[in-house]
Amino acid sequence: MSFPHPARRATQQVQVDHILIGSNAPVVVQSMTNTDTEDITSTTQQVLELAQAGSELVRITVNTSAAAAAVPHIRRRLDALGCKVPLIGDFHYNGHRLLTDYPECAQALAKYRINPGNVGKNRKGEDQFAMMIGAAVEYGKPVRIGVNWGSLDQELIVRMMDQNARLEQPRDAGAITREALIVSALNSAQRAEELGLPHDRIVLSCKVSDVQDLIAVYGELAQRCDYALHLGLTEAGMGSKGIVASAAALAVLLQQGIGDTIRVSLTPAPGGARTEEVLVAQEILQTMGLRAFAPMVTACPGCGRTTSTVFQELAQDIQTYLRAQMPLWRAQYDGVENMTVAVMGCIVNGPGESKLANIGISLPGTGESPAAPVYVDGEKTVTLRGEHIAREFQQIVDAYVADKYAPKESPG
Ligand code: SF4
Repeated sequence: MSFPHPARRATQQVQVDHILIGSNAPVVVQSMTNTDTEDITSTTQQVLELAQAGSELVRITVNTSAAAAAVPHIRRRLDALGCKVPLIGDFHYNGHRLLTDYPECAQALAKYRINPGNVGKNRKGEDQFAMMIGAAVEYGKPVRIGVNWGSLDQELIVRMMDQNARLEQPRDAGAITREALIVSALNSAQRAEELGLPHDRIVLSCKVSDVQDLIAVYGELAQRCDYALHLGLTEAGMGSKGIVASAAALAVLLQQGIGDTIRVSLTPAPGGARTEEVLVAQEILQTMGLRAFAPMVTACPGCGRTTSTVFQELAQDIQTYLRAQMPLWRAQYDGVENMTVAVMGCIVNGPGESKLANIGISLPGTGESPAAPVYVDGEKTVTLRGEHIAREFQQIVDAYVADKYAPKESPG
């Protein structure tokens, strides 16, 4: 892709097994399971699905003794299946105890997520935080200090609100809450370093569920530290709302070079695929020209010139086909993820848009002769007619991929 990339903010690079986060590494896509971690079979299966969809890190809840005991089994099963995706343990309330009591869990995880808002209060909280950082130091693991609007340290926010109230010109409560998120993350990171965790083993996040708040918080956080940042809109919601809100917030920040790893927190529809959040994260990065994961289909919205559903069906079939082929193509061909395909509804913009794509097809609109010219790298090559346009176009795509992209050398 030829878009100018925004300069990435200079950050510390953090190694999570074989994945690098931060500095000049590509923005990493991550996701989280919603299975019961105690259920080894279901969790292994979902981690596998998320990894196959393209999640480069997968976080799992570690909330009970049985869940902690399950973690090394899940790791072993994934390894046996050839899935090397690093697992991140998500800890709240009892992480200090689980990481201490289950050393195999502490070892099997590639990174720990610690929420400073619920490690405990006062001296006890400090001790429990120290126990978790101690485990990270002992096992050589990085941590994410993940602050969340919904579980912000209540003592900190009360103290900061009181201090603010005593000012001659107090700031509004929203500004103080945003500041408290940042202070909580930075203070915890400083404490972790004092406890012996290296600077380059810390990732920070300050998640909120409002787009403008997220942009304000991360803009400020990015100016005040050089830690790698995990970026995501928490509790983004369901369906198009969750997707749009996440894309709006992440795009603004990514464009400023802020964000080293992203997660899109979608609520799946009942029975919906968990992998949707991976797809959305990839599409945010790809549509911004920051990374490429799979060929993109450009399709017009259709209008009064397209009275049949033929072109909508073709656009959908081609998008589905391209995604289904990607695991195979990715293993066989270098650069195929950069391919662009256009499926257009009529002659108005069809030929022009088709010529801009690697492969484009301009279907006949209402009243046009029933012919669909195909363009390959800007040149018209063939005109398809009849009932089998979809299949024939697919064959053209297959032939293009085999011809255009260099075969990958087989290892060894
Ligand atoms: S390309 Fe044709 S069918 Fe598609 S939106 Fe434009 S005018 Fe309508």
